[in-house]
Amino acid sequence: MTSIPDIGPVDNLAPGLYLVATPIGNMLDLGLRAISILKSADSIACEDTRVTGKLLARHGIKSPMKPYHEHNAAKSRPELLRIIENGGALALVSDAGTPMISDPGYKLVKECIERNFSVTTIPGANAAITALILSGLPTNRFFFAGFLNNKAKKRRQELSELSIIPATLIFFEPARRLLTTLKVMFEQFGERPAAIARELTKSYEEIRRDLLSSLITHYSKAGPPKGEVVIVVGGYKKNASIMDAKLDQFILKQLQRLSIRDTTTKVASETGLSKREIYARAIKLRKEPQI
Ligand code: SAM
Repeated sequence: MTSIPDIGPVDNLAPGLYLVATPIGNMLDLGLRAISILKSADSIACEDTRVTGKLLARHGIKSPMKPYHEHNAAKSRPELLRIIENGGALALVSDAGTPMISDPGYKLVKECIERNFSVTTIPGANAAITALILSGLPTNRFFFAGFLNNKAKKRRQELSELSIIPATLIFFEPARRLLTTLKVMFEQFGERPAAIARELTKSYEEIRRDLLSSLITHYSKAGPPKGEVVIVVGGYKKNASIMDAKLDQFILKQLQRLSIRDTTTKVASETGLSKREIYARAIKLRKEPQI
């Protein structure tokens, strides 16, 4: 077992809510400040005391835990808020990763903000960002879609809406449903590059990067993967319609001062598109009334 540095508690931790990210697989991914804050907190609100208890034990953290999950949240929130009201420091963690990212905590944070309580975070692991940076897909713009709806019809509708977003798309997905979802993605998005990130930070971490159609072929043969997965899919490419509109504008501009033949030569040489295609477009555009 790897030895863990002995991190002490903070003296006089200020009252407030501390949103503490926990590892998504590898217990050593709990940062030094997170350990220190968790040791100093008056109470740690967590989804499952058994899951968090193991992490706390591994790091020698003895602060008391309070269950806070979707089934008891409304009932236990007033008690958690009272801890802060009475000058205490309350930490919020989820079973794994960053609290509130497809996990509980939003209403607690909202109420703390409304009451002017201090809210801060000790950032750390998150499966969506970890999958994104390993996917090989563009990271400059991304859209986190979380879990899709359980019902097939709604899931198809959600994917249809997401199909026009020009940003890399990130989904959490139960592994048993991966193949079905990939098929609906292919139906709604068409062919796109994608990556399946499985068991991130764990011993069997695996990233499978391929086209949607090839991933479908793979999982049809291999069966559902074991463990947890994130699906990352390339975004909508502003190709067809927007490019076409821009090309038409460009051709029309040339037609104002050049013949069809000269327009064709100029636009073809500047865009690299075939003369035949440009000529056909130019003829069509000249016939169409411009509004
Ligand atoms: N709040 C967490 C976070 O910040 O990563 C996410 C919690 S959400 C309830 C759980 C989902 O996250 C899983 O179904 C899976 O899609 C993804 N996930 C969590 N840990 C993962 C891991 N180690 N490898 C791959 N996916 C993971």
